[in-house]
Amino acid sequence: MAFRRLGIKEEVIKVIEEENFEKPSEIQEKAIPFVLQGKDVIAQAATGSGKTLAFGAGIMHTCKNEERIQALVLVPTRELAEQVAGSMKKFSKYHFLRTNVVYGGVGMGMQVKGLRYSDVVVATPGRLLDHIGRGTIDLRFLKILVLDEADRMFDMGFIRDVEKIIRACPEKRQTLMFSATISPEIAHLAKKYMNNPIEVEVESYVDPSKLKQFVYSLDESNKLSLLTHLLKNEDSELIMVFCATRHRVDIVARKLESQGIYTLAIHGGVAQNKRMRVMEEFQRQKTSVLVCTDVAARGLDIKGVSHVYNYDIPNDSKEYVHRIGRTARAGEKGKAISLVSNMDRENFENILKNPELTIKEEVLPKFEKLSIETKEHDSHRRSGRGGGHGGGSHGRSSGGWGRSRNNFRDNRSNSGGREERRESRGWGRRDESHGRNNNQDRGRRYHSRNSGRSERSERSRRWR
Ligand code: AMP
Repeated sequence: MAFRRLGIKEEVIKVIEEENFEKPSEIQEKAIPFVLQGKDVIAQAATGSGKTLAFGAGIMHTCKNEERIQALVLVPTRELAEQVAGSMKKFSKYHFLRTNVVYGGVGMGMQVKGLRYSDVVVATPGRLLDHIGRGTIDLRFLKILVLDEADRMFDMGFIRDVEKIIRACPEKRQTLMFSATISPEIAHLAKKYMNNPIEVEVESYVDPSKLKQFVYSLDESNKLSLLTHLLKNEDSELIMVFCATRHRVDIVARKLESQGIYTLAIHGGVAQNKRMRVMEEFQRQKTSVLVCTDVAARGLDIKGVSHVYNYDIPNDSKEYVHRIGRTARAGEKGKAISLVSNMDRENFENILKNPELTIKEEVLPKFEKLSIETKEHDSHRRSGRGGGHGGGSHGRSSGGWGRSRNNFRDNRSNSGGREERRESRGWGRRDESHGRNNNQDRGRRYHSRNSGRSERSERSRRWR
């Protein structure tokens, strides 16, 4: 078996066989040999590339069932923490490592208890620092530190927290860093805290021949109608609709639901256990729509997403690439569809600066203008910081998409603070994803060519 050649422990091979993984993914093939040699590794790999097993194999190689913390995995979001911990539990099924998660938004008590008996801890930076500050975590026996989705952690303004945590770890350790892009910040951090790291790079998990990207240019006040039309007429499986803010998520989910479209919704304002329930529900369905913010959906491995809609356009190509990477995974086909109004124009032009993206402009289909269109979400965008120049005319917005190289004027505020605070409630402060460095797509890109309302959503009907 190809996995055996990499030197992976038999206990883990047994799980791999049970999971029916035929061969190592590219990142596993390239990174695992170095990881198992105990080397520090910087791996350029996106969500869905199989990176968890790449560092997990190392953790299981080095750590034993000792009930003291030997491995710490830092991740940007709670959802990713749960996902990584779930994978670690699965992979260490015959190795008997105890894995616990630590993130904000839930009580400390259970976490404190869990930390006493953990071999592996998967944590978001803010809450982990709380534990370090209170002396409720013992990192003296740590052997491996993993920084997962490092670029996301930096985008979200976690760099200082991450540095503090690194300094709280023993100097003698193995450090593994996984990141979709290797920005100067990441290179700097690696130089400062890693020991002669080996750099490994892989192609994107998104297959560009399978992923088609389209844009519709339209008036802001027609977005809900067009989205409803496309959702009802496109042949699709799981669908993700990305909005800029929590408020927009709630409105869009409510309106789709009013059209009989089975809709789920998550954002940072939805309680953690509910977010997990919603995600499970989404993954269980064959057809359903998840309306979400970037942060709520970040890093999650969701299988069977056929369509990604950008209801609002993110302000840099990095975030755009993250979003579209939710579809066309593992050889499946996918579509990424962006709805661009005048308000999104500036952001969209910014995305087009990425020469590796091929986005085809589509002529608007005939669609019914629904009475669900409200000024509510429209005015909400305008009241804060809009992406563009206000309203717009009826029908198609003017002009095509030039690959403008003008300097992008960015006046968004940097976000700060902890994970659970990062997601904006309004347009004025954007999502977590738009924290520091938001328009500085400076790293080497991976090959991208490539409120209560959601409760109602959970109950809503299917439209098929
Ligand atoms: P990750 O990028 O670690 O989140 O993994 C993405 C998904 O791929 C998870 O569902 C893994 O269980 C799965 N996976 C990991 N390695 C392999 C492999 N070698 N072959 C097939 N699936 C894999």
